[in-house]
Amino acid sequence: MYCKNCGAQLPNGAYVCPQCGVPAGQGDRYCANCGQQTDPMAVVCVHCGASTKQPYPPQYQPASPYAQQKSKIAAGLLGIFLGALGVHNFYLGYTNKAIIQILLGTVGILLCGLGPVVSGIWGLVEGIMILAGSITCDADGVPLSN
Ligand SMILES: [Zn+2]
Ligand SMILES: [Zn+2]
Repeated sequence: MYCKNCGAQLPNGAYVCPQCGVPAGQGDRYCANCGQQTDPMAVVCVHCGASTKQPYPPQYQPASPYAQQKSKIAAGLLGIFLGALGVHNFYLGYTNKAIIQILLGTVGILLCGLGPVVSGIWGLVEGIMILAGSITCDADGVPLSN
């Protein structure tokens, strides 16, 4: 499909045109179906017959925003018991933090044995914060389920 504002070909699934920044389906100068210029007043494309007034694709909507909700209890318990290895942060998608914790919990033992202590306390605190409701979302901003 094509940008209705500038006529650029849009990548599959794009909902904003990378060329002009206009949301896909907005604009009245090009046909979304064939990319040919159309008259702004026309209701169908004279080149391919497609309707030019139908926004296409329909307004972008995630299928179900909470489909991937993660469990607060599971995340909290992972933090408390396996926090030294960052397991709760891998679970929630906070990968950068999780990698720091797993490094502290493994090769961090070379730091006078303190690495796992630091990441263990860090994970414990985060686990408690998750259970207490101070951390309420995963890395994608999806609220945790109870
Ligand atoms: Zn465009
Ligand atoms: Zn057309």
